[in-house]
Amino acid sequence: MFKIIVKDIKPGGIDVHETIAAEEIGLAKEDYMHFTAPLDVAAHIERLKNMVAAQAQITGHYESFCSRCLEPVEGDLNQGYDASFPINPATEFVEVGEDIRQEVILNLPTIVLCKEDCQGICPGCGASLNTEPCRCKKDKSKRPKSSPEKGDTYRPFEKLKDIE
Ligand SMILES: [Zn+2]
Ligand SMILES: [Zn+2]
Repeated sequence: MFKIIVKDIKPGGIDVHETIAAEEIGLAKEDYMHFTAPLDVAAHIERLKNMVAAQAQITGHYESFCSRCLEPVEGDLNQGYDASFPINPATEFVEVGEDIRQEVILNLPTIVLCKEDCQGICPGCGASLNTEPCRCKKDKSKRPKSSPEKGDTYRPFEKLKDIE
């Protein structure tokens, strides 16, 4: 993937187009985010004096779940990435793909929200607070086991397991 032969880089650069399968960025087993198609990578590669410079744009469309309320969420990944690779006269090729792959992994959203102010699910009564009122206000003696402040580190799939 993305092995650039240095002597093939024309003056003014070349444009390359590749895809990265979701499995290649480690998402196959991580259900929280699912890419509907391989990620698309368009890169412009230039040869400079002692290096090869790459400018890449990575795009993809994903399906996921809101971290707070577990409703399905779709979104677009659109990420730019610039990198340079030192070369010397003996360098035959540079491997651009692995860097791009790592960059995508590092920048994947870890928290997906259906909307910025999603109210989530009440840990006490299970009400989906975007659409229904909390039912535990009447009985304050029953304190919810988990704290609502945990909202942002909430793991959606642990909750899904509970539902099943
Ligand atoms: Zn939500
Ligand atoms: Zn409640």
